[in-house]
Amino acid sequence: MVNIPKTQTAATVPKLGGGVVFVHDYPVPQPGHNEVLAKVLYSGVCQSDLHTQAGIAASANGTPIRNVKLPHVGGHEGIGRIIALGPGVDEDIKVGTYVGIRFASRICRRCNFCLAGKEQHCIKSTNHLHHEDGSFQEYIALDAGYLTLLPDDIDPVVTGPVLCAGLTTYKAVKNCNVKAGDSVVVVGAGGGLGHLAVQYALAQGAIVYGVDGGVEKGEFLKSIGVTGYVDFTTTPNLTEKIHEITHGGADAVIVTAANPKAFAQAAEMLAVGGTLSCVGIPAERGFLETPISTIVIKGLHITGNLVGSLKECLEAVDLVRRGIVKPKVTVRPFEDLPKIYEELERGDVLGRIVLKIAKDE
Ligand SMILES: [Zn+2]
Ligand SMILES: [Zn+2]
Repeated sequence: MVNIPKTQTAATVPKLGGGVVFVHDYPVPQPGHNEVLAKVLYSGVCQSDLHTQAGIAASANGTPIRNVKLPHVGGHEGIGRIIALGPGVDEDIKVGTYVGIRFASRICRRCNFCLAGKEQHCIKSTNHLHHEDGSFQEYIALDAGYLTLLPDDIDPVVTGPVLCAGLTTYKAVKNCNVKAGDSVVVVGAGGGLGHLAVQYALAQGAIVYGVDGGVEKGEFLKSIGVTGYVDFTTTPNLTEKIHEITHGGADAVIVTAANPKAFAQAAEMLAVGGTLSCVGIPAERGFLETPISTIVIKGLHITGNLVGSLKECLEAVDLVRRGIVKPKVTVRPFEDLPKIYEELERGDVLGRIVLKIAKDE
């Protein structure tokens, strides 16, 4: 029997926009009926965590999300290990199993979205970004009926970012119906979402072009297999450049940057019949600035996606487990979180930063 302490360290945000406060006597949750208690080992840091704690995360209509539990504890790319079972948990759930702490925390399993395998849109859902404490704490209680159970042979260090960034970009590539030989442009390609979008598109046999800023990101993107790199800091007309290198426009453009400027003209990079996939969520109320005539005459598709289902998450994890997609992660101490938010804000993060949460594992 493991020793479960009563209190733990948590990165709390007492007031949105007021910054992170580390609390060392935060209560360890007791697993309730049909819940498990997990010890959090690692957690990725997502742009959505940055926006939520700052109080600037945009809702579906573009206004800031206000219904955030306080103190807020972020983190939705966590890898934990089940250490205790609450009453009523199924016998096939075992202590010691790896478990993911994702965006979605609880779902109803009865609404049309749940029934359709799109449970991330469940009308009664709660999530680890706004309603429940996430993985920026040492211990977490999870609904045993909606667990992200992970195989024993995953690498817990690199798998966290797959649960949000990986799943979202895996889904974005799927939404574009990418086929072998298609040209795919990823905007923001060197970032946490972007570098995974590149690899999931490559896994489908696409020819991938990366758009980002700076020499370092270009070198990194070439090392993971892009056919071309376009540096927006030195390219005067991005749309023209994309049309030139793709010989007439891309079959898909996936925008993973969270800057509205990155989206404004992205649809104009497409070839006839192409798909624009919107992935990053700008904090501000950003708009596409594509002429409607372009969309109609070129027969364009525009798609967005909010993470993906649990099943799609496990598919995204499997491609990483088998070494086909390799998340680029930098492991940092838990206490670095405030500094990491500053770095994310400046946009100078290559790949994903992962916090080491558990001290002894
Ligand atoms: Zn996220
Ligand atoms: Zn539902």
